[in-house]
Amino acid sequence: MTTDIPFANPHAAFAERRLEILEAVTRVLDGGQYILGPEVTNFENDFAAWLGRARCIGCGNGTDALELALRALGVGPGKAVFTVSHTAVATVAAIERAGAVPVLVDIDEANYTMSADSLAEAVRHFRRTCPTVTPTAVIPVHLYGHPCHMDAIMSVAAAEGLVVVEDCAQAHGARYNGKMVGSFGVAAAFSMYPTKNLGALGDAGAVATNDQALAEELLALRQYGWKERYISSASGINSRLDPVQAAILGVQLRYLDEDNARRRKLAAAYSHALAGCGLALPLSAPWAEPVFHLYVARCREGRDNLRAFLRERGIGTAVHYPLPVHLQPAYRQRILTGPDGLPITERIALQIVSLPMFPQLEEEAVARVCSAVEQWTAAGA
Ligand SMILES: *Cc1c(COP(=O)(O)O)cnc(C)c1O
Repeated sequence: MTTDIPFANPHAAFAERRLEILEAVTRVLDGGQYILGPEVTNFENDFAAWLGRARCIGCGNGTDALELALRALGVGPGKAVFTVSHTAVATVAAIERAGAVPVLVDIDEANYTMSADSLAEAVRHFRRTCPTVTPTAVIPVHLYGHPCHMDAIMSVAAAEGLVVVEDCAQAHGARYNGKMVGSFGVAAAFSMYPTKNLGALGDAGAVATNDQALAEELLALRQYGWKERYISSASGINSRLDPVQAAILGVQLRYLDEDNARRRKLAAAYSHALAGCGLALPLSAPWAEPVFHLYVARCREGRDNLRAFLRERGIGTAVHYPLPVHLQPAYRQRILTGPDGLPITERIALQIVSLPMFPQLEEEAVARVCSAVEQWTAAGA
C-alpha cells in the first residue's frame, strides 16, 4: 500500500511544528488582545528585518496587500496599472479594487514572468490609444518563486515614469542577482495564504516598504483610514492582520530559509530525474535564485491526460493557471491587453502542470512522481 501524494500540504507544516504553533496560539488567546497589538507588531518587525526593508505592514491577505499598496501610492481612478495575465486573478482583482485600469502584458517563455519588451510596447500603445487614462504603475509578479527580470523592468518603469509594486506572493526569499525580491519596488505585497512559501493557517498578507511616509499611510488605510482612533483622515478599509495568524507566522518565519532550501532540493531532484522525459522543465534565469513555490513543467501535448494518469496513481497535480485572466468570464469583455495580444501566455496555459511541491514532501515521493511521469512518457512513445 502506498499513500497518496498531495499536490500541496499545509497541514504537514502544522504537524511538523505543532507544539511551537500551539504554544504561540495559546499565548495570543491567553494574552487577551485579539485585534492588532504586540503579536502583529512583532511579526511585522521580524518580517521587515528578514527582508531587509525598513517597514512591514500586516494586512488581511495578499489581495488586500496589493490594493492597499496601490491606494497608498495614490493609484486609483484614471490611472492604468500594467501587470501580467499569467498570474493569480488576485493581482488583477486588486488593481480593480483600487479603482485603476489593469492592462495586461505578455511573459517571457523561458521563465513565465513579465516580458519587459511586452511591457514597454504595451505602455507606448496605451498612451497612443487611451490618452484619458494615465499609465502610473507596474506590478511585476515573481511567479512560481522565480524572480522577474528586474533590471529590464525597472528601466522600462523609469523611462515611462511608472511606480513599481512587486507581487511577491509566491516568492518570499527569492533573489535577483543576490538581492531579495521585494526590495526593488517602492512597495512589495506578500500573501501568507497557507500554501505560500511563508504560510499562515488562514488568511494573511503584508506590504513591505522602505518609505516611512508610505508605511504610515498603509497603517491608516488598513484600518478605516485612522491616523487617530475614530478619526478617518482617508477613506480606508478593514484589513488588519489577525494576531493569531501573526503569532503563527512568527513560528513559520523561523523556518522559512530552511523550507526554501528544502523546496530547492526537491526541485533539483525533480529536474535530475525528469531530464530527458520529454517535458520542458523549469529553467532558472542567470540572475535568479528561485524558491520554487511551485515546480511547473510543460507538456507540449496531452497535459490533461498526464494529470489523469498521475491522479489514477494517487498523485495530485494542479495547473497555475488554466485560464489567463484576460480570457476569464469576469474580465474578457473589458480587460485590456497589449497590441499583439498575449500569445505566449495563451499557449503555455494549455501546457503547464504543477507537480507536488511543499517542504515536507519526501524525496521518495518525488521519485515516485518522476517514475510515474516516465511511465506515461514511455506509454505515449
Ligand atoms: C496568492 C497570490 C495572491 C493573493 O493572495 P491572497 O492572500 O490569496 O489574497 C496574489 N498574487 C499572487 C501571484 C498569488 O499567488
